[in-house]
Amino acid sequence: MQYYNDETLIYLEGSFVKASSAGVDLYGQALHYGYGAFEGLRAYNTHNGTRIFKAEEHFDRLQKSCEAISIPYIWDNRELVERTYELLSLNNLREAYIRPLVIAGSNMHLTSATHAKMLIAAWEWGPYLGQNLLRVCITNIQRPSPKAFPVESKISGQYINSILASTEAIKKGFDEALLLDQEGFVAQASSENLFIEKDYKIYTAPLKTVFPGITRSAVINICKKLNFELIERPLTIQDVYEADSAFLCGTAAEIIGIKQIDHIIFKEDWEHTIGASIQRRYKNLVLENENYEVII
Ligand code: PMP
Repeated sequence: MQYYNDETLIYLEGSFVKASSAGVDLYGQALHYGYGAFEGLRAYNTHNGTRIFKAEEHFDRLQKSCEAISIPYIWDNRELVERTYELLSLNNLREAYIRPLVIAGSNMHLTSATHAKMLIAAWEWGPYLGQNLLRVCITNIQRPSPKAFPVESKISGQYINSILASTEAIKKGFDEALLLDQEGFVAQASSENLFIEKDYKIYTAPLKTVFPGITRSAVINICKKLNFELIERPLTIQDVYEADSAFLCGTAAEIIGIKQIDHIIFKEDWEHTIGASIQRRYKNLVLENENYEVII
């Protein structure tokens, strides 16, 4: 996949510059130690024009991620949202995946950053895990401990954990990995949150060890709106195996149904599950086909 060409512009340090000519700080803590924070947003081509779903929430989370790891955050999030729309327009992108990245600068010490750069890139990207129902497996790779990392933050280095988990899943012939937390509960996937359905109720893991997905909270709001009972509680492996259906959600993957977890194949036809109704509602929400205020 080619993410940019000679014409692609990125937003870097307050200006729009060619992606092909923007340099990398070879002595930066981001490069050496994964000391940076990032976000993933999606812009949709709606009847109201190009609209970024929950743009402010994503930039606010980026700010929190930086604050959690002591990277100075000197940007105004409203202005960053405006610059992001400008970036999309300059690159003629009506729908896109958008990647802001805060890059800690030169410093070979293991001390907190004194300066950082803001990069925003965007490219066309279909649903991250495709559109087909998924085969997922529970990996041996655990979610990082909240005592080791602020796991509610999107910190660059932390994603080695996600890479290890999804690599293990793909090597075993699955599409994506589910990770357990330190207590052995099923937390989430490598970069998506997990929901299961059992007896017409929807369950998801509580926020203690899982990432506070913006899509996760949109799903919870959709459940409230549609009067689906939503229960947040730790999920055992048994809960997941005995579910009627399940799905993953995230900005990149959107909402995608699961066909199989380990050796268990769900009997329920996905199209008849609550997850499928939520998936349809989510699509309408991001495309602004429904009154936004009514739902959220
Ligand atoms: N979990 C992890 C570890 C993530 O990095 C992400 C974002 N890619 C998600 C879940 C989903 O979060 P969101 O819905 O905010 O994209």
